[in-house]
Amino acid sequence: MLVIKDLHAKIDDKEILRGINLEVKPGEVHAIMGPNGSGKSTLSSVLAGNEKFEVSDGHVTFNDKDLLALAPEDRAREGLFLSFQYPVEIPGVSMVNFMRTAVNEHRKYRDEEPHTASEFLKLMREKKKLVEIDSNLTNRSVNEGFSGGEKKKNEIFQMAMLEPKLAILDETDSGLDIDALRVVANGVNKLKSENTSTIVITHYQRLLDHIVPDFVHVLYKGRIVKSAGKELALELEEKGYDWIKKEFED
Ligand code: ADP
Ligand code: MG
Ligand code: MG
Repeated sequence: MLVIKDLHAKIDDKEILRGINLEVKPGEVHAIMGPNGSGKSTLSSVLAGNEKFEVSDGHVTFNDKDLLALAPEDRAREGLFLSFQYPVEIPGVSMVNFMRTAVNEHRKYRDEEPHTASEFLKLMREKKKLVEIDSNLTNRSVNEGFSGGEKKKNEIFQMAMLEPKLAILDETDSGLDIDALRVVANGVNKLKSENTSTIVITHYQRLLDHIVPDFVHVLYKGRIVKSAGKELALELEEKGYDWIKKEFED
């Protein structure tokens, strides 16, 4: 589904990703962990198509297409979802209208008829129930005045609505409160299927108590320096990152 080969990316001539290799197959859940400043968020930004970062080498395919050649919106329409895909606040535009436009754009890309108002509302009710989102969030303007936790819940709702093939969730460094953590974990687990994959990016192990990954990777100084099963997350929780830093110091 996703194949990343020797990906290098820089900003202002500073190389941040220094040769990332990663393969994600349908049905898999991967966790990317690592100390602050390793390049975790940079990796998701590059995959999203954020133009701040310059890809200086390497290749990424998504569903056998050259991902880096696609415009950001086409990456989304191909079924890639990034947790900060819609981080902006849009006063005056309700979540309902915003999501209806987004869902119908995705449908159009797949040559499917747009949802009628009642079909859309039905879908929204189902997904809200599935991910346990309070109804008042979706009546408000997009992200306007949302708390960090509410934005995170909203993202999970957007993810449920858009039914991506691959979701990349970057847990912000500020972390999530217990309630938001539960919603994120719950959403990911409920949306999991044999055809869809998830990459969870996290600094801390605690999210992985709730979302059990098939693979855990440690990103350090722009490279994946270690990959293993879920036990690696527990080892990191216990021992911290110092041993990784010592082992892979330049
Ligand atoms: P992580 O998510 O693992 O904490 P980031 O990807 O946010 O790491 O950051 C990796 C490195 O890239 C850091 O040294 C950070 O300072 C640098 N970096 C990230 N974004 C920018 C930016 N917009 N301008 C300059 N440096 C940046
Ligand atoms: Mg950081
Ligand atoms: Mg980060």
